[in-house]
Amino acid sequence: MASFDIGTTAAKGVLVAKDGSIQGEVTVPIDTHYGDAGEVEQSPEQWWQSVVSICRTWWENGYSPDSVAMLSFSGQMQDCIPIDHEGQPVRPAILYSDGRAAKQADNIKERFPEEQIRRWTGNHLDGLMPLPKLLWLKESEPEQYARTQVVLISSKDYVIRKLTGACVTDPTSAATTGMMDISRREWLTGMVEECGVRCDLLPQLLAADEIAGQVTDEAAAATGFIAGTPVLCGVGDAGATTVGAGVTEVGSMYVYLGTTGWVAMPSETVAEQGNGIFHLAHLPEKLVFAVAPLSNAGNAHGWAARVFADEVQSDQANAFGQLERLMKESGPSAQDVYFLPYLHGERCPVQDLDASGCYLGVRPTTTRGQMARAVLEGVAMSIRQVRDLLADGRSVEQMTLIGGGSRSAVWNQLLADVCDARVVVPEQAEFLPSLGSAAAAFVRLGWADSYTHFSETYLNRQRVAVYSPNPEHRTIYQQRYQTFLQLYPTLQPLFSRL
Ligand code: ADP
Repeated sequence: MASFDIGTTAAKGVLVAKDGSIQGEVTVPIDTHYGDAGEVEQSPEQWWQSVVSICRTWWENGYSPDSVAMLSFSGQMQDCIPIDHEGQPVRPAILYSDGRAAKQADNIKERFPEEQIRRWTGNHLDGLMPLPKLLWLKESEPEQYARTQVVLISSKDYVIRKLTGACVTDPTSAATTGMMDISRREWLTGMVEECGVRCDLLPQLLAADEIAGQVTDEAAAATGFIAGTPVLCGVGDAGATTVGAGVTEVGSMYVYLGTTGWVAMPSETVAEQGNGIFHLAHLPEKLVFAVAPLSNAGNAHGWAARVFADEVQSDQANAFGQLERLMKESGPSAQDVYFLPYLHGERCPVQDLDASGCYLGVRPTTTRGQMARAVLEGVAMSIRQVRDLLADGRSVEQMTLIGGGSRSAVWNQLLADVCDARVVVPEQAEFLPSLGSAAAAFVRLGWADSYTHFSETYLNRQRVAVYSPNPEHRTIYQQRYQTFLQLYPTLQPLFSRL
């Protein structure tokens, strides 16, 4: 089967064989337009052309469209992609990070109490979500709004429209639109209409493993796929990554350590507490997964490399390597310096944009290596904090770790030690979203009985590195964690004065 991930920076395509092996990886970069008024836009046509170009590369390299039993997709979420009745974009896609609709979000919150929105959607509402963006479109570009027949939510929804003519999205992508009842996985049509948006603009909601349609003759001519090949609805990239990380059951958990980061854990119910946690519909239908977003992750690591390594100007990879060597010079001790890693403010477990990074406990003997280690330790402590919040008293013995930060062996071990849990790092992490969306096809084709079966059968075959907590460090980190927890509440009154 063919699996595509239409991400923010690139579209990736892979062919996944029945034994779970990945072939024919092709990546095509995608451009983003940033405007002065907070605009972040992409061209849906470029998403489609990237898929066409991935297919051409496959057929040129000898792969055959006859061997493709099904197509599945993952894609960036929380976009606003208005298309007309012919399926043409009426304007560029407004991406999730586009900041134009803050006022419209405030207006919606004046109409509906935040508590109620949270109860319905499982999430808070802000201007980055498609509902306020739709209102922005209606108010600021009434002509385009009038020409809009359907608003798609994920980049992959547009590609599916081009392939099949169907206008669909999946409950994972819909969960952060501000428009879906998370318990029923249905659009909140009453609320949407009351906000002044036509609910006939919303696409059909299908499960990730439901068939959206078949490749049309026209799409077959463009892509080379056989007309009639079934196309799945697929899933928003957060859902695909979660399944790709093998996190399909309550009790499992993973950490994404990219430039920013998140910790995610499935659960049967939507937790009441806010704390900046998102809830998304999971691919296994009875589950949601809670996502705790961290504003400070690899970016803090990058800062430490810039400040404490010498080689950063010439070569960033070398700087990370040098930092790694510096940190290895001394092991952890109870007297080590502390670092609160809120360089960019923080979103979870505290929501404080004024918060900043700070060191505590610097002595004349403190070394560069210790200062650098404190940064990675601080991020690990933040991860433990949100892990404890998400786990809500349940024990977590193992965490999967993905994202560029997992390339630091020192950090991986620190995470295992600080969180007192095994840390498992899959080797082919860049393909996890593609494997997650492939899982939907495996379930639909009957190649796997369930998402958990997919994970146990196919993902566990991937090579992994395992980091176990060092028993000698347990007491040190337990004590240091208790002190770390007091840093923010103690310093908080000072931040707004800086
Ligand atoms: P994004 O979320 O932007 O896709 P990535 O998953 O690529 O981010 O992760 C970026 C992070 O990966 C960097 O901030 C850094 O923490 C880490 N990283 C990148 N290269 C290296 C390296 N050579 N060694 C160790 N860590 C690295």
